[in-house]
Amino acid sequence: MQITFDTSIQYMRGVGETRAKALLRLGISTVGDLLYHFPRAYEFRGNVKPLASAENGETAAFILTAATDVKNAALKRGMTLGKLRAFDESGSCEIVFFNQPYMKDTVVKGGEYRFYGKITKEGGKCMLSSPVVEPIIEGRELLPLVAVYPLTSGINQKLLAKLVSEALSALGDNIPDILGAEICEENNLCGIGTALRGIHAPKDFKSLERAKRRLIFEELYRFALGAGDVKKRDATAPKLSDMDITAFAEKFPYPLTGAQIRSIGEIAMDMASGIPMRRLVCGDVGSGKTAVAAAAAYLAVKNGYQCALMAPTEILAVQHYNELSELLGGLGIKCGLLTGSTKGAARRELHDSLKSGELGVLVGTHALIGDGVKFSRLGLVICDEQHRFGVGQREALLMKGGGDSCHQLTMSATPIPRTLAMFLYGELDMSVLDEMPPGRQRVETFVVNESYRERLIGFIRKQKAEGHQTYVVCPAVEELEAGEVSQEDIRLFDFGYDINEIMRPKNPPKAATVWAETLSESLPEMRIACVHGKMKPAEKDAIMSEFSAGSIDVLVSTTVIEVGVNVPNATLMIIENAERFGLSQLHQLRGRVGRGRAKSYCVLVSDVGGKSSARERLEVMRTTYDGFKIAEYDLGERGPGDFLGSVDAEVRQHGDLRFKLANLCEDTDLFDAAVCAAKKQKENSI
Ligand code: ADP
Ligand code: MG
Repeated sequence: MQITFDTSIQYMRGVGETRAKALLRLGISTVGDLLYHFPRAYEFRGNVKPLASAENGETAAFILTAATDVKNAALKRGMTLGKLRAFDESGSCEIVFFNQPYMKDTVVKGGEYRFYGKITKEGGKCMLSSPVVEPIIEGRELLPLVAVYPLTSGINQKLLAKLVSEALSALGDNIPDILGAEICEENNLCGIGTALRGIHAPKDFKSLERAKRRLIFEELYRFALGAGDVKKRDATAPKLSDMDITAFAEKFPYPLTGAQIRSIGEIAMDMASGIPMRRLVCGDVGSGKTAVAAAAAYLAVKNGYQCALMAPTEILAVQHYNELSELLGGLGIKCGLLTGSTKGAARRELHDSLKSGELGVLVGTHALIGDGVKFSRLGLVICDEQHRFGVGQREALLMKGGGDSCHQLTMSATPIPRTLAMFLYGELDMSVLDEMPPGRQRVETFVVNESYRERLIGFIRKQKAEGHQTYVVCPAVEELEAGEVSQEDIRLFDFGYDINEIMRPKNPPKAATVWAETLSESLPEMRIACVHGKMKPAEKDAIMSEFSAGSIDVLVSTTVIEVGVNVPNATLMIIENAERFGLSQLHQLRGRVGRGRAKSYCVLVSDVGGKSSARERLEVMRTTYDGFKIAEYDLGERGPGDFLGSVDAEVRQHGDLRFKLANLCEDTDLFDAAVCAAKKQKENSI
């Protein structure tokens, strides 16, 4: 039977019904699927070492001559142990095979072989155990790189390698190429046959790279072909005409940064265009997004419209209100605050001044979308930290300003690499605050383990002696029972973190409530308080305001303090069980300190050691301060699908952003080229 790209895998030699079922678990149902099942890694068998120069524990290839035949010995429970000696010019070693009695026929005295495996050198003895064996045959080249495939039970490496190799030789040049000669030529890409051979059985690193480049391009191209085009906005929105922000800039206590001026300019252009603004302002913590939002509000009100600013928590809403009313109040703009705790007469008064148009800016939580809230001329809606809201809530607020015809500004502190933002917020324009206000200091970051506990206590005392305050963040609210798994654990697991690293029984998550008590015993002279998400909003806010006013020295909390709060006098952030937090989350938390003039510190406490990926993440935090770089690391490690999950629950549907090969951060050039080629293709096919 002639095998083609679309032939069912079941018709390949060596694949029956059972194996076909197993292969299906890997997403392989046709010969084509098989060829697009890419290796997850390669064994570098080209790393050939003389026996004498290999180090204990090293994995390498050895070209050896067998000095003896394999002698099999029977062990308990039907197991066998095969042994032989082999040598090269530099020395000799013992080779053992467990449960591979057939090696007796594969390896024979006097033959030359490439053995690939881990060598142990102990007590003057040199041993290779169960290495991979390939005979050296005149005229047949041994590949330096050998593919390692993702597997499933019932399917092993050898079988996959054999099937792939048979499929490739059966198909020959008969492989459909979605890119076609023209696109390949324009972008200096190899054809599909070369690419598939290159990825499964690369001759060298160079041909592997070339194959990958072509396949990554293809992956991005397919994605770009399928991606929707940017939504057209045919509604009209308030067309503002007075765009002078001189008075605002003069009132603002600092000179605006270049990035702030640029973003405000982009917003002004949007709102002067008569087309509804849909803009995302994206900036690292502390980059000064509030000033940009305030300027936008200022412009809207100046032109006779009202502005609503929605924040995800009450604490943040209050803080925005304070900042905005101070800034805009001085410019003759009346601001109001509406949250769940605005009651009775105050609420009625707000409603009235909103309806009459007397109130220019209304800041609040999702209480803003409540039924009683009616604006007279809502022209601009601002959402802060947008990933905390669902689409529904944002839409509901927009509806108060006539839906499509209202300007909308979204502010996100999650730095999103530009390429990713294009997908996520394809319908949004983007302004990036890529410049920090001057004089901002780096938050010195340390990674320590429990043995530093005493010194940490001393460090908290030192902050207090200098008149400063400390945050301590714990991963849990209450202590878990033995063996319980918290929601947080499940979330981390969802993100692809190694749960075993995190779930060590000797490393239970510190609970904020309990830890606050423990700290009080160690620091009896200090005012210590605890705040967490299970408290009533009013309680939480009371404690936050006390901390903000300086009447609390140490605030023990969960991640409720993650977003936005601004206490410039806090100079130390201690994060307990730091391995349990996502990188972007750690970065947000760290952004809570270093907001004033004084030198600030972030201490990541973790007992996770050695070479774990958790430890590597903490190292990234210690050495990297740029939120965008951190986000890119996160993205590279967890893949965009998971990254998106953490950024914004509403974009989880972008599951198709899971690429096999492409990395949206690293492959930006290829990505741009692929989008361009896809666009051309779409135009041609109309
Ligand atoms: P973000 O919301 O982006 O995290 P904020 O708007 O809260 O940042 O600003 C962080 C701090 O930087 C605030 O204390 C703010 O007053 C200050 N700030 C903002 N813009 C400037 C500027 N241009 N120059 C100096 N300080 C600034
Ligand atoms: Mg902010």
